Amino acid sequence: MVQRISRIFFVALVAANTLVADGPKCTGTARDCEQKIRHLVSGRRYLGATVTDKMPGLVVSAVTEDSPAAKSGLLPGDILISLNGKSLTQASVRDFKQYVADARTTGRIWLIVSRHGAYSRIETRLEPYPKEQVAKIVAMHLSQTHTKTAGTQR
Ligand SMILES: [Zn+2]
Repeated sequence: MVQRISRIFFVALVAANTLVADGPKCTGTARDCEQKIRHLVSGRRYLGATVTDKMPGLVVSAVTEDSPAAKSGLLPGDILISLNGKSLTQASVRDFKQYVADARTTGRIWLIVSRHGAYSRIETRLEPYPKEQVAKIVAMHLSQTHTKTAGTQR
């Protein structure tokens, strides 16, 4: 359960990276943060895949349950070859996030992945975060970074 929540939180960081670009540190009050996160994440469409840089290249390290990535058949361990025709074989995690962001207009994502040495094409579509995931993302952020101040703020 803890692992699942932290995955979801990571996905939120990807979506909200303009807010918390350098990790879980933040300076606002818990209430301000909750509102900012909700604003950024609600209605924002997501893929639901966590990728890790294996230098060079990218591998899927986690897939969020019930996410577009999960429904399309993407699996942890898949090596990413390309996204919407853009090569990922030398890409960084930052490049990957940018390419996903570039696809927000249409929401369409097609990936070429290498799995056990064979290439597959995976097609999916970005979807809005479900409400319960938004709530979990907020709860995770508050418990990670606002525990010390929670008792002193009203
Ligand atoms: Zn915060």
